[in-house]
This record gives sequence, C-alpha cells and structure tokens, in this order.
Amino acid sequence: MLIDKHGRKINYLRLAVTDRCNLRCFYCMPEEGLDWLARKELMTYEEMLHVCSVLVKMGIEKIRITGGEPFVRKEFMPFLTKLSKLQGLQELTITTNGVLTAPFVPELKKLGIKSVNLSLDTLDRNRFFAITRRDELPRVMETLEALLHHDIEVKLNAVVMEGKNTDDILPLVELTKDMPVSVRFIEEMPFNGEGNHYTNLTWDHVQILNTIRQQYPDIQKVPDAPFSTSYNYNILGHKGKVGVIAAYTRSFCGTCNRIRLTPLGVLKTCLYGDGVMNVKDLMRAGAGKAALQAALLAAVGKKEKNGWEAEKNSAVRSALNASMATIGG
Ligand code: SAM
Repeated sequence: MLIDKHGRKINYLRLAVTDRCNLRCFYCMPEEGLDWLARKELMTYEEMLHVCSVLVKMGIEKIRITGGEPFVRKEFMPFLTKLSKLQGLQELTITTNGVLTAPFVPELKKLGIKSVNLSLDTLDRNRFFAITRRDELPRVMETLEALLHHDIEVKLNAVVMEGKNTDDILPLVELTKDMPVSVRFIEEMPFNGEGNHYTNLTWDHVQILNTIRQQYPDIQKVPDAPFSTSYNYNILGHKGKVGVIAAYTRSFCGTCNRIRLTPLGVLKTCLYGDGVMNVKDLMRAGAGKAALQAALLAAVGKKEKNGWEAEKNSAVRSALNASMATIGG
C-alpha cells in the first residue's frame, strides 16, 4: 500500500506518455516547441506497462494519461488497450487537447473509458489561434461532440489568462446550460518552459468566481468529490457544472492522493517539486519487481506535505522552469 509520511493513501497516478505536443500554448511552451526528448530517453510502452502494473499492485486505482499530447505518440491506442486490461485498475482517464482525438472516441468508449479531460481555453477561433498558435478549434469541437455523443463524461479545462481569454469565462459557463459538461477554470501556473513568471496572479480563483457570480448570482456551491482539485458549483437550470481549480494558490494540496511519472520515467510526488527517482533508469539497470516496489515505496513515503514545501525543498528550482508538457499536466 502506498502511504506517505502524512498518512495519505496514494492511489492516483498521472502518466505522461510523451513531452511532444501538436499545439504551442504560450503558457505551456515557447513557439518553437521544447527541446524534445530523444526516443531512447522516453520510457517505452513496455516499461510503462510494467511500472503501472507494479504500482496498481501497490494501491494505485486510477491512472490518468497525459503529456504532451498523448495522441501524438505512435501506437498510443494499442498501449491504452493493454493498460485498460490491467487487473486491479479501477479507472483509466485521459487528458487531451482534442486535436487528434475525435476518430478514436468510439474505441475509447469500448475500452471502458468513462471520463476525458478536454483542454479548451476559448470558444473563439481567433483567440484559440492566439493562445495555441495553431488553428485547430474546429477539430477540438468535433472531439467534444464525439465524447458527448458516446456518453463519455467531459471535463473542459480552461486556463484563465489575463488579457487573453478572460472574455471567454462567461461563454464557457454558458456551455453548461445545454451540455452536461463540467467546465473547470484553472489558475495559470508558472510552468511555461521559459522560467519568466509573473509574480502576482490577478486572475485567481476568487476573481474567476466573482466574475461568474456577477452574471449568475444564483450560482451554488455543491459538495466536492473526495480529493477533488476543483471547487464545484451548480447554476440553476444548467445541465453541466462549473468548477474552479486553484492550481496557483494551491489550496487543495492537503488531500493530495497523486503521483506523476514524466515521459523520462521520473517520479514526481508533487507538481511543484523535483523528481524523486527515475523508474526507467532503475528498470534498465536490471531492477526486478521487488527492488522497484521497495524504491517506489520509499520515494512515495517521503511525499511533500504541499506544493509550498515541495517548492522550498526543490534543490535546483528546476521544477518552476519546466513546461507542463514535460511534467505531465
Ligand atoms: N496535451 C494535453 C492537453 O492539452 O490536455 C495534456 C497535457 S497538458 C500539459 C495538460 C493541461 O495542463 C492542459 O489542460 C493545459 O491547459 C494545462 N497547463 C499547461 N500549462 C499550464 C500552466 N502554465 N498553467 C495552468 N495549466 C497549464
């Protein structure tokens, strides 16, 4: 069982299968992209399956596949199919930008995937281009329609950026009127791959919520699911829900139940901290299941209490210069 030194049961893994992405969201990476990892540096699918099977035996119940963009890695669907069959895994989900996803939605449904997080920061094609540096909004909307058509639960993730898409907050909320989707507004975090961060975040969860409340004064708080990173709300008569994720102000860390594996095989026990071990290197050095298990147990045991502690302990402070694509957002 994976329990950290604060007594928290760790049962959720976020696995980034690639650092590559077909969008260039300015808050995530520079226009020219990142220094992409060489293929041999990436964990192979076999390695990922192996470490996932070990982790599931140790108590991981939910795996979210992320990246980079998962669908740009070759042979992603056969990997997902194998992962979905892992004995003991209770929930498999994906975070995607939706550009390449629509044709695979029927297969996702067949694999038993019940929920997908779709990143969508704006409903306006020009603003989409300005933010992502790619003109791909129509394909993302196709994915949204396909997911709803196949009764897959959709959480729409929108990063709120001052001067870029704050005019999109209300149109995105409006989507919940007729669509059974959860629209979640995320505070912008400093992981843009360039290390040039603002020091003050104007559009924090309070400001986002106040903006929504002005238009919808009857918005009501609903109970948050255990370990939820979002504060969730209902608007009377709307089919969907609205949520706000305080990713920058980090007010949800206390109940954290997650760990991350980067495409390089680096285990991160906190988004804001450094990597704590490299499972790929360990496996390639010949470590068997027992050795891998022992190393994972020890590393997860030391999980930081919250993002502030992790950031303080971060030796090289590299974590804050990273892109979400290399960490696994
Ligand atoms: N490519 C996939 C996607 O777009 O959903 C998965 C990876 S992406 C890095 C995961 C999520 O991280 C996206 O919702 C993205 O908006 C979010 N993200 C990336 N950089 C961020 C930042 N600096 N602040 C807040 N969220 C960020």
